[in-house]
Amino acid sequence: MGNIDYDAFKKRGFLRQKQEGLFVLRTRGQAGNYSAEQLSILVGLSGKFGRGILHATTRQGVEIPFIKFENIDEVEGELQGSGIKTGTSGPRIRTTTCCPGNSRCKSGLIDTFGLFDRIENELNIRCAVDLPHKLKISISGCPNKCTRAEASEIGIHGQAYASDGKRQTGYVVYLGGCGGRTPQLGIKIEKIFTVDEVLSLIERVVKFYKENARPGQRLVLLINETGKEEFLRKMGL
Ligand code: SF4
Repeated sequence: MGNIDYDAFKKRGFLRQKQEGLFVLRTRGQAGNYSAEQLSILVGLSGKFGRGILHATTRQGVEIPFIKFENIDEVEGELQGSGIKTGTSGPRIRTTTCCPGNSRCKSGLIDTFGLFDRIENELNIRCAVDLPHKLKISISGCPNKCTRAEASEIGIHGQAYASDGKRQTGYVVYLGGCGGRTPQLGIKIEKIFTVDEVLSLIERVVKFYKENARPGQRLVLLINETGKEEFLRKMGL
């Protein structure tokens, strides 16, 4: 196993396990949604190539552990055409997490799934796009922030407010949050955005990060280096 390019396998969605010669397959959630058919395929793969175990990750992925190195190509082959995507680790955009928002949750104020689609398909800011380091986007349908919007590089939640005597809904944004060993809450931008303004801001933040961060530097460190006020000015805020 000495000559294996583990980073290349990681990019394909297979992470080296603690046990020699074994890998974990990690899927890429699509706004947290899987069809019953997709879950059935994953159950089948865990029985055929793993040990019948599946693990739900905090970023809405599904892991299948105990896959032997020699079976990786075959597992990939069986995923083809299923719509199940893989490859969420390393220095790249991670899976954008979403709660159900106003499609199902009684508290939901915004269309979280619709925003996910627009980020991935209109902006082409998709999971697995290479960046200087990891960058996480989280979308919550209301101020309860079930997907921890304030602890991601770009966190968004729905917000109700009154305008001209009417109840309106908009979007609140946090920038530069992160978890891990030195957790930090994102900067709450004191404005309620429209969906188009949010998309434009996401595009500016990702572009700024891509063009200015050093390898391994997370957004919060780049913001600290740039200076909060200067960063916000550069973002047009
Ligand atoms: S953040 Fe709000 S809308 Fe989303 S699941 Fe939690 S309570 Fe529901």
